[in-house]
Amino acid sequence: MRWGLIGASTIAAEHMIAAIRSEGGEIACVQGGDADRIGAYAGRHGIPRAETDLDALLKGGEVQAVYISSTNEKHRAQALAAVAAGCHVLCEKPLALTVAEAREMVGAAEAAGLVFATNHHLRNAATHLALRDAVKAGRVGRVLSVRVFHAVHLPPHLQGWRIDDPAAGGGVIPDITVHDADTVRHILDETPETVVAMAGESGMGRGVEDSVMSVWSMPSGAMVMAHESFTHRFAETGVEVHGTDGSLYGRGIMTQRPLGTVELVTAEGRETLPAPPHDLYARGVRLFHEAVAGRGRPAADGRDGIASLAVALAVREAARTGRRVAVEV
Ligand code: NDP
Repeated sequence: MRWGLIGASTIAAEHMIAAIRSEGGEIACVQGGDADRIGAYAGRHGIPRAETDLDALLKGGEVQAVYISSTNEKHRAQALAAVAAGCHVLCEKPLALTVAEAREMVGAAEAAGLVFATNHHLRNAATHLALRDAVKAGRVGRVLSVRVFHAVHLPPHLQGWRIDDPAAGGGVIPDITVHDADTVRHILDETPETVVAMAGESGMGRGVEDSVMSVWSMPSGAMVMAHESFTHRFAETGVEVHGTDGSLYGRGIMTQRPLGTVELVTAEGRETLPAPPHDLYARGVRLFHEAVAGRGRPAADGRDGIASLAVALAVREAARTGRRVAVEV
């Protein structure tokens, strides 16, 4: 598979270039806004071609798939252009700034018969798969509640558009709440119906929220509480699933790296669930390659990306209005 990278981003440099190559993908070209920067980026990562013009990356059928990791406001136009050029799309979360835009992107790919995936890396983690498997196997009985702890400290090199640029899609809700929405959907196999929330600036955000707490109602009757932040230096991350017959404790698992543990506590005692670690991003690329080859579906497809964005935007609206907001997928 020959890939084009749209966006000379940190996430591509830190994870996705290696993940694509580890799964046998070839990176033919990278596109970004500034000629000098994009040339240096291509040189650093051994990418043969650098373009400032998106059409130049897409023309001629050289690339079969694109990985979009530009700032969030650019995803829509870039995805639509890639689909129009016949490319399969792996797009970063949040898919877009509005649910309508995300629907347009995913609908275009579906109409063209192309694979569209959302890069929700967490559902590829062995720990998250262990949580999902345990719930599906009924090991906690009926799920009563889920608690998601995802308050972290945004590292200095990422303290750019995320903390001060609403037009680029900044804020902790589009950045992290989308991931938590996908995590809960993946583990429980259901999408929140309504949400309430409070959000604010707690020391890093300037004009966008850097912290949020929300509560979600699920169709099954389960309740979810979620906490995301950019300003918590020492907080541990995790996911807990509490059911009538047991509780699952995922500790240190809301991360890009294959870390953390999952324990199950029942009347029989406490056990650690097997979760042999593997690279999260590489698994996502592998499933994407498989889907393009007609075998199975991506780890998170376009519809998953629409749903996670719908939850996140409902949380933002609930925080803004102080009202309970329905999730419109
Ligand atoms: P970056 O800020 O590193 O890059 C985004 C864009 O900003 C680039 O495409 C580039 O624009 C521009 N840019 C970056 N650095 C510079 C610079 N030094 N000077 C000028 N312009 C610059 O973004 P991230 O990697 O943090 O995030 C990119 C996307 O990936 C977002 O959608 C984010 O939500 C998502 N993400 C997903 C993660 C996951 O695990 N799934 C983790 C982290 C991010 P241009 O290309 O136009 O030149």
